Amino acid sequence: AGDGARGERVAIVGAGLAGCLLAVLLGRRGIGVTVYERRPDPRVAGAERGRSINLAISARGLAALEQVGLRDQALKRALPMHGRMVHPLGGARNFQPYSADGERAINSISRAELNGALLDTAEATPGVTLRFSQRVTGVDPAAGTITLLENAPDANGEPGAEAPDGDQGRTVTERADVVLAGDGAYSAIRRSLGLDGDTDFLEHGYKELTVPPRDGDFALDPDALHIWPRGSAMMIALPNLDRSFTCTLFWPKEDFAALDTPAKVTAFFAERYPDVAGLMPDLTEDFARNPVGSLVTVRAWPWTRYGDGAIVALLGDAAHAIVPFFGQGANCAFEDCVEIDRCLTETGGRWERALSLYQERRKANTDAIAEMALDNFVEMRDRVSSPVYRTVKAAQHALERRLAGRYVSRYELVSFSTLPYAEIPARLRRQNAALAAALAAAALTAAGLARTLRNRTRRPRT
Ligand code: FAD
Repeated sequence: AGDGARGERVAIVGAGLAGCLLAVLLGRRGIGVTVYERRPDPRVAGAERGRSINLAISARGLAALEQVGLRDQALKRALPMHGRMVHPLGGARNFQPYSADGERAINSISRAELNGALLDTAEATPGVTLRFSQRVTGVDPAAGTITLLENAPDANGEPGAEAPDGDQGRTVTERADVVLAGDGAYSAIRRSLGLDGDTDFLEHGYKELTVPPRDGDFALDPDALHIWPRGSAMMIALPNLDRSFTCTLFWPKEDFAALDTPAKVTAFFAERYPDVAGLMPDLTEDFARNPVGSLVTVRAWPWTRYGDGAIVALLGDAAHAIVPFFGQGANCAFEDCVEIDRCLTETGGRWERALSLYQERRKANTDAIAEMALDNFVEMRDRVSSPVYRTVKAAQHALERRLAGRYVSRYELVSFSTLPYAEIPARLRRQNAALAAALAAAALTAAGLARTLRNRTRRPRT
């Protein structure tokens, strides 16, 4: 592992979104780090199948990327989505802006490109060493070592997705004083330390499909995140730079299994997603070929382990994977990296204190977004299609415009601000209480006025 400023050997496990950003931030502090990644270099080997192809990146992610000079580059390669385009079954599609002024947008960004840009930046940062095809299998905080399988065949990290049989690679033990685990939702480090805590699998899985360009152009409006709400299930679509859309089905797992022939797939889509079925020429092949991924909420605690030999901390999905319905997992993982960097500054680079400060500050925030993400699933797959919901949203936006900065919706606080997630529920309660009080006062004033008018206009008794 790389030598830190005080001579510590610092290892980051996982060269995903969080691992790479953290490597850059630490490298810039003059801390040497070695990043161990189980996959071959994705810039050479191509993106992994079965991961979401694009991501919605919003204010928090952009603020973190800004710290390493990647914000503008990311935005140049992003497609802004200013609202939701809702496709109800049997009704007209309708556009619902994300912000009161209609100006703010979340950004559809290719995961592979973002990861590639972060890998390039990490590689160019003095002191950062990237090592690919290195699957870390465990950590020993007492001895200050990590074990890894070099050049092991790859598997996608989900439970049951073990590496293929055959050459299992060479087991190696390496010294490390600080181990930062950004190895994703199914973290081997978390498992090896027994920090698994609470891991909830949703009964829904996800599968990706494609809407290719039509006559060289986008087949759907590229300025929106498209949603087909279907009660207990839904499909969404995000635009890509090549003018295609990546659609993601979020369905109960048994619904995927039930469509076991091409004819059933075609008939089902014609009935349930009629306005898009004709835009998917490879529907049946994609449906049969693309895997069903799991959706998991991880609530590990603590995120740190202090041994005589090494300090270990979890970050990103390894510490707190969340369901993707607020588009915040990567945004939130990036915030972890910035917080670790800030805590190192505040503690004069003392790892033990910095990492305990980091976990204390982040836990309430990641718990809060985990709950909001679960809640947003119900909103997206069900509530968005109701006329009452649309009326309430329109009224909310009108209030936001009138009370600029004093009344802000949950969506805007999550996606367009960097207010700590944990402060959002209290902020919403306060503004709702203020609004209720104002409405009550207005009602009293109106009632008083009506009484006065009644008294004044009452005819005198004779
Ligand atoms: P990862 O990106 O998972 O990276 C982990 C890395 O560690 C990988 O490179 C992996 O190969 C490596 N690794 C794993 N095990 C080992 C090991 N044993 N040894 C060495 N290396 C290892 N977030 C958003 O912000 N916006 C969205 O729109 C969004 N959409 C999503 C849609 C779907 C369907 C899903 C499933 C997630 C979505 N997310 C979204 C969440 C986002 O993908 C994650 O929160 C984010 O990738 C977390 O980053 P990470 O670096 O912690 O983990």
